[in-house]
Amino acid sequence: MRSELSIRKFSILLPVALFCASRAVLVRAAEPARAAEPQAQEAAGPFARVPLGFPMNSLSPYISEETVEYHYGKHYKANVDALNKLVAGKPEAAMSLDKIIMTAAPGPLFNNAAQTWNHAFYFSSLRPDGGGEPSGLLAGAINRDFGSFAKFREAYAAAAQTLFGSGWTWLVLDAGRLKVVQTFNADLPMKHGQTPLFVLDVWEHAYYIDYRNARPKYIDAVFDHLINWDFAAANYARAVAVGS
Ligand code: FE
Repeated sequence: MRSELSIRKFSILLPVALFCASRAVLVRAAEPARAAEPQAQEAAGPFARVPLGFPMNSLSPYISEETVEYHYGKHYKANVDALNKLVAGKPEAAMSLDKIIMTAAPGPLFNNAAQTWNHAFYFSSLRPDGGGEPSGLLAGAINRDFGSFAKFREAYAAAAQTLFGSGWTWLVLDAGRLKVVQTFNADLPMKHGQTPLFVLDVWEHAYYIDYRNARPKYIDAVFDHLINWDFAAANYARAVAVGS
């Protein structure tokens, strides 16, 4: 029942591409013996975490089970819990997550709504046995806009490594061109008219247990082993289809 409830909420609250890609991961990850259950339910309210599409231990050794437990089970959950408490009894309780993000004033409501969105996108951007290079239309677009995959990876890694403080590094589609962009704290591409394809969380909680202060090792590990290119490619295809 709880799983059905989470999926229902998620289908209402996040973009179709994100939903479809995550469902694909869920199907693929349904076979391992270890369950991917969240540690606890969200505080009562209209918003829920995206179901984790893989077992918590399945990103190891590149991202440990302990990191996923804390990141998905505590940090992300705390954002969703705070969001549910902030909207309780208010008109925002009936709004979509996107609407709240686009209309909220700077402050706790925006921060927790945006971090709820960002973390759903992040956990959909990763998968066990991922990494490597994309194929198809997205690969062609990367070659067109960066020159080669190697140059894209170099630009992305530099942006992720040099982001000062806490934030996110994104591959986005902006006016028909792929770009690598940084956002700080809870900021996100939709506030800037950009369509995200893939994101890396570079808040310290995403990597400190596994890599301490060596953020470049985390970035390399994700590129080599964990990027969910199917998710990014689905987001790109959808964005192109709607003319982003
Ligand atoms: Fe995070």
